[in-house]
Amino acid sequence: MPVDKFRALDVSDEVLKALDHMGIESPTDIQKETIPLMMAGKDIIGIAPTGTGKTVAFGIPMLEYISLKEARVQELVLAPTRELAQQIVQELTELARFIPQIKIAALYGGQPMARQISQLKRKPQIVVATPGRLLDMVNRGHVSLNHLHTMVIDEADEMLKMGFVKDVTRIIEMAPVGRQLVMFSATTNRDVMTMSWRYQQDPVEITVEATRENRPQIAQHTLLIPRDKKMEALQYLLDSDEYDRVMVFVNTKFMTQRLCDRLIKEGYEAQALHGDIRQSQRTKVMNDFKRGKFPILVATDVAARGIDVDDVEAVINYDLPNENEYYLHRIGRTGRARKHGVSFTMMTFQESVRMDEILRYIQSKPTPLHFDAQGILRREDDTAFFERI
Ligand code: ADP
Ligand code: MG
Repeated sequence: MPVDKFRALDVSDEVLKALDHMGIESPTDIQKETIPLMMAGKDIIGIAPTGTGKTVAFGIPMLEYISLKEARVQELVLAPTRELAQQIVQELTELARFIPQIKIAALYGGQPMARQISQLKRKPQIVVATPGRLLDMVNRGHVSLNHLHTMVIDEADEMLKMGFVKDVTRIIEMAPVGRQLVMFSATTNRDVMTMSWRYQQDPVEITVEATRENRPQIAQHTLLIPRDKKMEALQYLLDSDEYDRVMVFVNTKFMTQRLCDRLIKEGYEAQALHGDIRQSQRTKVMNDFKRGKFPILVATDVAARGIDVDDVEAVINYDLPNENEYYLHRIGRTGRARKHGVSFTMMTFQESVRMDEILRYIQSKPTPLHFDAQGILRREDDTAFFERI
């Protein structure tokens, strides 16, 4: 079987069959390194570039670890957004395809409690949640964390920032002493180390550096441009017809919606994703985008972390992100699972000063582009960026 390299990691036949079904053949570096450790019950910090299969890295040990006879919540995954929680459930469900006894509940805000309570009544062994809704469910007595043996914090650095850290800490403290605590992310910070020091036992830190071989293949570009020319530039990029699936990132909910509306008015098939849209619509937009039903997703950073859409060919930063690591997460929506992608970052002169700071942080060098007097996009050596007839 092509998945033999996973067999060497002690993965069970059921999960091997599922991997085969998913078209996954050989483990990525982060999977090779963390699967055996996590199966051995270790507390782990796993840091690896975007799109390198961190979900499977924690998903496989989670499935191998479950006691199917015990009808109670044994494992928990925390994620920062509803979309990411939904996606993790989908990926775990695929991995568990040949273990029909496994039940997974998804708990996140914006969806009626009743639907999620009925999932809990089916006695899932796994819960995937955003922190607020989970605490709400615990406080109302719908779920107990007293029998957790494994807790995974995905996008750990984000989860330990101000907005989340209180809730996450409370959840960790509800779990039994001695539970396994595992944290994954593409970027890390001091909060992750502090949390590790406080709550992990003999943690193992695995960092997979972005080497030439495994770094996401993203051709990065910058475009110095006045603010009032950004829309025109965006249309130029979209009109190139080079990219069938594009994500456009904007900093605020208001501007995201406005840009999306403008694109639609100009005849583009675009949809918006941000926190002011009601959850049922958010879910539909995300699923439709994943299924390729429309080509352009205009989003806030709600879609920047963890979201895995096959074949996103280009990421366009309409604004520069406010936080350095978000640049990596945003462009990391393309070039996933060993595929190629391209990114464009539009910046005003003011933003370009901030961009220098981001570039020092990420240590890579995008190719600068500019429009010439005829409005043709060119590289510094004056070659045209898009070859036109
Ligand atoms: P990360 O969390 O590291 O950003 P994901 O877990 O979202 O990445 O995985 C990115 C994509 O790669 C997913 O579509 C996943 O199914 C796929 N994938 C995971 N493991 C492998 C593998 N070993 N080989 C090929 N593709 C994989
Ligand atoms: Mg991920």
